[in-house]
Amino acid sequence: MTAKKESIEERIDRLHAGRIIDLHFDLPMDLYQKRERKNVLETEFLPELESGHIGVVGVAIYIEDRYLPETGLRVALDQIARLYAEVDACPRFAICKNYHEIQKARDAEKIALLITMEGAEPLGTDLNLLRAFYELGLRSIGLTHARRNAAGDGGVFASSGSSRDGLSGFGRDIVRECEVLGMIIDLAHINPAGFKDILSITTRPPIVSHTNVRLYYDIERNISDDQIKMIGEGRGVIGINSVLVSAKKEESTLDRYVDHIEHVANLIGIDGVGIGFDFFEFIYSQWPESAKKELAEKLTTPQFIPDLRNHSHAGSLTRKLIERGFSDEEIEKILRRNWLRIFQEWL
Ligand SMILES: [Zn+2]
Repeated sequence: MTAKKESIEERIDRLHAGRIIDLHFDLPMDLYQKRERKNVLETEFLPELESGHIGVVGVAIYIEDRYLPETGLRVALDQIARLYAEVDACPRFAICKNYHEIQKARDAEKIALLITMEGAEPLGTDLNLLRAFYELGLRSIGLTHARRNAAGDGGVFASSGSSRDGLSGFGRDIVRECEVLGMIIDLAHINPAGFKDILSITTRPPIVSHTNVRLYYDIERNISDDQIKMIGEGRGVIGINSVLVSAKKEESTLDRYVDHIEHVANLIGIDGVGIGFDFFEFIYSQWPESAKKELAEKLTTPQFIPDLRNHSHAGSLTRKLIERGFSDEEIEKILRRNWLRIFQEWL
């Protein structure tokens, strides 16, 4: 028998056979925005998810400023309702609430959706609502986005200047309740003081679903080497974000994305790194210039990586990881196995 050398395409296909997990995607707000339309998930998202071999997606409930505070809860519920209705209309998807359901969906070659929340605003100050959202399928929560809320403060998009305050009593209660319910605590966006507070309470592996390392983009919304090590000590996982790899357009490249992966792996090992693409261009491109300007003034201008702009591009990342010398086992851990371990331990 002659051994035929595997081509790079064949190697990518083999590595993608178990599918890819992306733990942060702003899908529900877009489905809500388009709530008068049907089959948005199937027509606008399924083709890219399938061609990128995506197997699990963390879909984040997020409430835009214009709905707060009055209608935050209602819009969050509406986003969940749209998600269920859209999944009902397309059998290629399944909303999953535990590890077993995720594995069942993967076995059936469905795309598993894990409902997450970015910012606890929909809860107001009522801890009871966390239980209600749990019953609706919420399985991961980040306490804040960039703004302050009843749970705590977000990290600013600057190298200093975040609030020095840690979590509020309400924020601490949410963390404790998440441990009881089995709802993954996500440390993405939280300010440095809140980050420490969460880690002082949690006993299970912490995650940062979508972030970048401050070494390459020094803002408090991202995470420092000390913070990366704290996640490593808790056997947690950090998902690397594709829209904040650098402040500079010319440095926002696939190689820089892999630099972020490599930096985390160098500090805490390959078991601590995963993917949280945070693909955002599909929303950004729908905005009027005024909204883009407002985002630039309030936070930052996102710099999209030319060959990693949506889920159909996931193969470019795998190709780059191969080129950069990552082993099959390392690539599989980055693409899915580390997140699967988190699901197994929490859900
Ligand atoms: Zn975010």
